[in-house]
Amino acid sequence: MNIHLVCTGTELLIGHTLNTNQHFIGGCLDAAGYRLAAERCVPDTGAAIAAAVREELARADVVITIGGLGPTTDDLTRDSVARELGVPLKYHPDVHAVITAYLAGRNVTVPAESLRIQAMVPENATPLLNRNGTAPGLWCPASGGKVVVMLPGPPRELQPMFQEQVLPRLRELAPPEVARVAFSVCGLPESAVAEVVERELAPFADIEPAYCARPAQVEVRLSATPALKARLELARARLMECLGDAVLPAGCSEPAQAVGSMLLERRLWVATAESCTGGWIAKTLTDLPGASAWFSGGLVTYSNDWKECLLDVPEAILNDYGAVSAETVTAMLEALFRRYEADAGMAVTGIAGPAGGTADKPVGLVYIATGLRAQRQVSRHLFPGNRDSVRQRTVTTALNQLRLQLLQAR
Ligand code: AMP
Ligand code: MG
Repeated sequence: MNIHLVCTGTELLIGHTLNTNQHFIGGCLDAAGYRLAAERCVPDTGAAIAAAVREELARADVVITIGGLGPTTDDLTRDSVARELGVPLKYHPDVHAVITAYLAGRNVTVPAESLRIQAMVPENATPLLNRNGTAPGLWCPASGGKVVVMLPGPPRELQPMFQEQVLPRLRELAPPEVARVAFSVCGLPESAVAEVVERELAPFADIEPAYCARPAQVEVRLSATPALKARLELARARLMECLGDAVLPAGCSEPAQAVGSMLLERRLWVATAESCTGGWIAKTLTDLPGASAWFSGGLVTYSNDWKECLLDVPEAILNDYGAVSAETVTAMLEALFRRYEADAGMAVTGIAGPAGGTADKPVGLVYIATGLRAQRQVSRHLFPGNRDSVRQRTVTTALNQLRLQLLQAR
């Protein structure tokens, strides 16, 4: 089943609004075993919407449109699609009643005309109930057994509608076409991961690998037809075994999750001392629900003064070796154990750029110290990319370094 998406909205094209609906729908379809084959984005004009629907419908079995179902003058999808399909719009009293009830529950009054516009439904279409807004979605049969599905733009309206009402209808049209499994690898370059995957998958010609590289991490996805689900699991198990400790455990998409669950299991408390990442490691840890059972706290010591005051980094070390040095990061980590009684710790210092680099300490130079009470590791890195990339890589690498130490201390 070929599914194409047409996103409407000038705000998407001018970079004002991030197209999160495409991200959501692509992910939902994938999880359900379908592929989103194509996506395009068009401005809020009737002509552009009609042309996009006409062209996509020529190639696809299902065309999903997003946006433009509201009552304002730039909401043109309902009209344009109905005209394109040659179906008249008809006033739908049941839809009107549902919208009126929705608004009454919220004590909102809306002009009668705008209610009426949203209650207009292409004659042969099925309205899709909107739990979080007024405009219904529209499931609209087209010639040749094809379908146009119109969905409202606001993500909180679209998401439940898609999961509860669109996916089940798609399942009635065609069974799932693809099965997928995934795992994440941390601390190995994409090319090294790919080498292992290609080698080990040689006997699995019916399984297709794909890679998604993120800073300091690679996600590997394996896909095959749904009948090969058991073979997919076999291939995944084989790859995870070959890649060893670099693979995050099942259900973990980032090293922080693995760190958190090991700390919880062993009743250990972790603390952080961050310079160039400005609290990002602490943020990543506290993004995880339940972090209060294993995260003591984090210090952001950006200036030399704060490194001295809060972490007892000796002035002599800062003068002789500099704030970005193995000596400084080691002293930062030691203070977490000595002064803050941590069981596990992470400390980072580096030059995130774009300015501040020198010949012997270029932008991207980062020192990471991690450890448990009986075990320490200091590493030096030259991370590529801009400020954001250097900082993101520092966070992931520090968390992964501690993860590997926790694994070794098993
Ligand atoms: P509309 O239904 O076109 O009036 O859109 C209503 C709201 O949904 C607007 O705030 C849009 O910016 C937002 N929206 C529409 N399409 C998308 C999309 N693809 N991703 C994220 N937000 C969207
Ligand atoms: Mg719009």
